Amino acid sequence: MDKQDNIKHVAIYLRKSRDEGEYDDVLSKHRDTLVAYAKAHNWTYILYEEIGSGESIAKRKKIKQLLAHVEDGLYDGVLVMDIDRLGRGNHDDWAEICKAFFCTDTFIITPQKIYDLSQEQDEMRFDFQAILAKMEYKMIKKRMRQGKVAGAKKGMWTNGSPPYPYIYNRATKQIEVDADKLKIYRAMLDKYLLGMSTQEISVWLNKRAVAPPYTGKRNKYGWSHVTVHRILISEIHLGYVIYGKSHKHRGTAQLIDKEAWIKVKGEHEPVKTQEEHDQIMARIAQNAIIPRKCRVGTLPLSGLLYCSKCGRRMQFKRRETKNGGYWTAMCVYTYPDGTKCDQVGRKLDDAFYKALYQKITKLDEQTLELVDEINEQYQELQALCEMKQKELAQTEQAIENLFELYEDGKMPKRRLSDRIAGHEKTKNELEAEIEKCKTALVSQVNLVTVEMVQKRINEFKALWLNATDPSEQNRAFRLLIDRIVYDREDDGLRLEVLYK
Ligand SMILES: [Zn+2]
Repeated sequence: MDKQDNIKHVAIYLRKSRDEGEYDDVLSKHRDTLVAYAKAHNWTYILYEEIGSGESIAKRKKIKQLLAHVEDGLYDGVLVMDIDRLGRGNHDDWAEICKAFFCTDTFIITPQKIYDLSQEQDEMRFDFQAILAKMEYKMIKKRMRQGKVAGAKKGMWTNGSPPYPYIYNRATKQIEVDADKLKIYRAMLDKYLLGMSTQEISVWLNKRAVAPPYTGKRNKYGWSHVTVHRILISEIHLGYVIYGKSHKHRGTAQLIDKEAWIKVKGEHEPVKTQEEHDQIMARIAQNAIIPRKCRVGTLPLSGLLYCSKCGRRMQFKRRETKNGGYWTAMCVYTYPDGTKCDQVGRKLDDAFYKALYQKITKLDEQTLELVDEINEQYQELQALCEMKQKELAQTEQAIENLFELYEDGKMPKRRLSDRIAGHEKTKNELEAEIEKCKTALVSQVNLVTVEMVQKRINEFKALWLNATDPSEQNRAFRLLIDRIVYDREDDGLRLEVLYK
């Protein structure tokens, strides 16, 4: 097979050339051309657009970033208008560019030609090799092989346990679709697109006793609407693999903004179409907007209270008595077979709101368990990392103390170097361990933490305390809560708060 058929994911690099000066439309024309080119070839792409026009690489922020990504083997090719867009500066610049492209077998693609720097017939090869020869090519190539390992991971599954309905195949290191789970997944998707809410879908799944997709303690709670929501919005199901959440720069792991994460077509089978995904996202966006009629005479819980038995939104009814009126919440849903939902309603009195406020402001057991499970490892790592950092600081202090002793003439040079050597060894080991911890921590940054939930709760408290009317109270609830699931049994009221 032609190597070039393997191009799936490219970077598009845009920069004004010297003589184009202030003409911004030149750049946007180039952007249109290159994006259209990538689309026509069915490649996924990430744009790197240079603002300003520094001549050398050091002055061009985006090319630096791009070269680092190329060195990591993140792309099959880099798409540019002309090859000289990449660099026009000095010899060192070109050396850096060659090194990145040549050693990772990354193509340079222009609308006219694809340059494969490792192929004999490419006229550029000679120049590149001449430069590389000066750079001890073999040594560099060896060092760069690490980048190729990252490249080999492209499209491979490296993120632990995959989302429903996928399962991980240890042998192939790929994720595969489980046929039975796929049926359930497709049913979920269809139901959502037909207008069922995520809450209703979770009720439906639990009613049918479909095994929930977690292991351990969480299983006893069955499916939750949060789980359904996460599965529905996932881009993994479109066939993508997301990576590049962190990047190593001079040996330090750095966080990358979510916008800059790299999304690559994976090797696994997609289970939904882009069109379906767009419809899902459109529905979610729509649901986030509160219907206009809710705003008139909003109650604190308008649109937020759901019945645990049938999954429907509960209704509020006003009752008038001799001593004034009060509101009640009740479920009025009738199943298609004519039976009414047997949920018992309740008066929305002070005691009810007090119970709810307490429930919300006190992190409940289930939320904690959920968050805990995810965070246990994270916190252990963090603690370990801090401990190692303390040890490192102590070691560094010890080294400094030795130097002071030496400078004060209280220690002979020979003893100094012996003792320093021991400390340096410890220092290096500690630094390596800290690095490992940091990398592991970085890979988990997108998780919800107890602190995040707590922070929102504090925001809620502040809003709630300052709320002067029910619609402001409603706003406070909506900030924090996706929905409140109401259940009333003989033993009293049970409220389950589902955080956003
Ligand atoms: Zn109901």
